[in-house]
Amino acid sequence: MSFIPFSLHATLMANLSEQGFSKPTPIQKETIGLAIEGHDVMGLAQTGTGKTAAFLLPILQRLGQTRRIPRALIVVPTRELAEQIRAVFEQLGKGTGLRWAMAYGGVGINPQITKLKKGVDVVIACPGRLLDHIERGTVDLSKIEVLVLDEADRMFDMGFLPDIRRIVKKLPAERQTLLFSATMPENIRSLARDVMRDPKTVEISHSMPPATVTHALFAVSDNQYKTPLLLALLKQIDRDSVLIFTRTKYRAERLTRQLISAGHRTTSLQGNLSQGRRKAAMDGFREGTFRIMVATDIASRGLDVSSISHVINYDIPAHVDDYVHRIGRTGRAAKDGDAFTFVTPDDADLVRAIEKRMGSRLARRILEGFKESEQPNAHLKKAKPAGQAAKAHKSSGQRRHFGPPRSGGRRR
Ligand code: AMP
Repeated sequence: MSFIPFSLHATLMANLSEQGFSKPTPIQKETIGLAIEGHDVMGLAQTGTGKTAAFLLPILQRLGQTRRIPRALIVVPTRELAEQIRAVFEQLGKGTGLRWAMAYGGVGINPQITKLKKGVDVVIACPGRLLDHIERGTVDLSKIEVLVLDEADRMFDMGFLPDIRRIVKKLPAERQTLLFSATMPENIRSLARDVMRDPKTVEISHSMPPATVTHALFAVSDNQYKTPLLLALLKQIDRDSVLIFTRTKYRAERLTRQLISAGHRTTSLQGNLSQGRRKAAMDGFREGTFRIMVATDIASRGLDVSSISHVINYDIPAHVDDYVHRIGRTGRAAKDGDAFTFVTPDDADLVRAIEKRMGSRLARRILEGFKESEQPNAHLKKAKPAGQAAKAHKSSGQRRHFGPPRSGGRRR
């Protein structure tokens, strides 16, 4: 199927083809038609599925020409995600004359006010700063026709739901609402009941990580062996960019220092960084100046880097949903990716929960040359020798190489 059945404006079709988007992704296929018809839509899909275009195309189609008054409002949890949406808006909205303003914190408010005053059609915002603009009277939301709530579950995790409810109260009741979430906990369902009208639900693969990702667990008997295991693993895998998750900001900082002193070009992304430093870290990682990024869960939201070949969970995530979010950073737009999780004996319950969600056992792997005593597999029952590992969510054959680096491999 192509985009033709949606009867999009010629400019939008031209922009799609310029981006090389020849056919809609599953979420786009399901959402675009419903949204263009004017329905409220609840989309269960994680980042990496093409959901940004799924809501932007109907918005661009609906707005048509600029009227210099906000008619679409997109609310997201992080400024990185806001910037990512702006980038897609600029690509898909090229030549439409539609104008945008950003409203997120961590940067000065005055340039945002100036932009809003000049007259825009779309506002892309994070909840806190948007409320600030509302209180100052610097944004007019009285003509909003479409509201998008993106990554609603993450907004809930970050404590933004009361803010969202306050924002929604300022919008016209007569509007279209599109809500996207990787998971649908009860709080989000309840929000949806309150702010949406007879929504159509579109569900993509039950919030599973992309099918192109191969998962594997590496056992360590104790936390102290994680860094040696990681260093050994980094030597052996054929990798592009690697995203490593730790449980806390402190652990992210420490691991970053360890990796740098081992000679790896590494950057990190944790909470409380200034906007400038976050941007420098993200740009450096995206452009390949840094091949490794160490991040915490919240800091990684909105990270859209297409060349991530490996996600390594140095610490297993505390929630299954976080596992899905983390893993969704690789295997994007149908590229292959590997997701490795380091597991200590204390993590057994979390492993079970993740495997239950994935619907299958994850492969157990042992690293060649890494001391057995430091990597006992006893707490991961029925361990299989390397090479014979079971695969989860991988449709095609094994292709990742273990053992010494391949000559002519991508990068060591
Ligand atoms: P998103 O889930 O919106 O973050 O999109 C994930 C990735 O998919 C981005 O890199 C997009 O450029 C890409 N993408 C979105 N829609 C399409 C499409 N129809 N065809 C190919 N790639 C797409």
